[in-house]
Amino acid sequence: MTDDCIFCKIIEGSIPAVTVYEDDKVIAFMDIMPINPGHVLAVPKAHFRELNEMDEETGAHLFRVGMRIDRALRRSGLRVEGTNLLQNNGRAAFQEVPHVHLHIIPRYEGDGMKVRFGQEKAAPEQLREWAGLIKSKMER
Ligand code: AMP
Ligand code: ZN
Repeated sequence: MTDDCIFCKIIEGSIPAVTVYEDDKVIAFMDIMPINPGHVLAVPKAHFRELNEMDEETGAHLFRVGMRIDRALRRSGLRVEGTNLLQNNGRAAFQEVPHVHLHIIPRYEGDGMKVRFGQEKAAPEQLREWAGLIKSKMER
């Protein structure tokens, strides 16, 4: 629990949330400002600000819960033609609540949600340079 963290307060029960799943490590509740009906947040109960601070075991479980919510959404009767599992880290990446969370967002044609992907192809030597920087820091 970290003071002033809204998700820690939901986890300890001092702020209400509409829960869809809970176990000893992860809670999932409805996003209060949903992008589309059925938008859920899966949240580790321990406080980590960003993904890189979190242990892989918790991360793997968080994603497992996200997959279960995805399957439940598809069976729910809500309008779910597709989903986005979205996980934002840092203000530059749209993170508003500094407690790790995984969005499970139902999607349908024409819902108006926009994410702009790259528009220009990068040069192969540029891709190799970036890959080299990343590969040299990969843990095994
Ligand atoms: P992010 O931009 O990835 O940090 O997303 C934070 C999400 O948390 C937003 O979609 C908010 O609508 C949602 N949110 C903020 N406060 C609450 C709350 N009290 N209960 C449920 N969802 C919340
Ligand atoms: Zn927290």
